[in-house]
Amino acid sequence: MGGLNLFHRNLTAILIGVSLLSPLAAVAEGLVVYTARKEHLVKPLFDAYTKKTGVNIEYITDKAAPLLARLQAEGRNSPADMLITVDAGNLWQAAEKGVLAPVQSATLEKNIPAHLRDQQGRWFGLSVRARTIVYATDRVKAGELSTYEGLADSKWKGRLCLRTSKKVYNQSLVAMMIAQKGEVEAEKIVKGWVNNLATAPFSNDTKVMEAIAAGQCDVGIVNTYYYGRLMKKKPGTQLALFWPNQGGRGVHVNISGAGVTKNAKHRDAAIKLIEWLSGEEAQKIFASLNMEYPANPAIQTDATVSAWGAFKQDQLNVARAGELQAASVMLMDRAGYK
Ligand code: FE
Repeated sequence: MGGLNLFHRNLTAILIGVSLLSPLAAVAEGLVVYTARKEHLVKPLFDAYTKKTGVNIEYITDKAAPLLARLQAEGRNSPADMLITVDAGNLWQAAEKGVLAPVQSATLEKNIPAHLRDQQGRWFGLSVRARTIVYATDRVKAGELSTYEGLADSKWKGRLCLRTSKKVYNQSLVAMMIAQKGEVEAEKIVKGWVNNLATAPFSNDTKVMEAIAAGQCDVGIVNTYYYGRLMKKKPGTQLALFWPNQGGRGVHVNISGAGVTKNAKHRDAAIKLIEWLSGEEAQKIFASLNMEYPANPAIQTDATVSAWGAFKQDQLNVARAGELQAASVMLMDRAGYK
């Protein structure tokens, strides 16, 4: 019966053009998770949890926006108990659209630092991703680099590569810059970046690094796990990471995270799962599967990742990335950042 109901609910989603189906065809007797993290990043965790607790987890994966649209369309009838997605901008949107419910949990408050979770408990960071500067080691000395703002300096004219401003990662980066420096200053910086571009923005972080490695440009801004993936694939690549803003606000960090849905049928079980995800056993897996940093500061970072060096991270609540997302998008548009 449960399976049938789920198919009915799917109809709503299909009608609004959200094309998600299959894995939920099975009866959802356990928890139901909608996840924008790819299957290979969550399945090992869910399997471990099921083995440990006997709680069955059904899940579907899709991009953040369709999952949010689906939750909204399904409303009360949604089978989802939990949403997992990347970027505080997306989590903030989900909370703003009213699909997430506040959770009060001493475990989560202890395990997850305040700047990596919603103040109302509607979402909690579970891994940290650093968006930092990457440079060509044969053409740039680390000493020439300093801050994100520094990449607006004319010495980088024709030497900078960036990913598109359409990506939420860059919207969040610029939003946090607005939060700390104000809109006027942030716009000057983004205009400086645009002036320094070697070529039109790329569709993803890997392409940014490939362009730098190929000599098309010398510096860029990327999430560190993409650097990790590239270096694993092509170990000899002449690229290195640089930790900017160490004398000031710190490196821009973002999160992947989770929240309990407003219409969760298994609310307590969902809270227990998020609590488990914030603890030692899961944090190690959660972070290392994607070469990210554990959100729980008590957990050691994977050896490959910690080899990139320690850094000071921005302590401003990542929720600001959501609050200022619209302002950030408009600012980048004014600055001509495509
Ligand atoms: Fe990513």
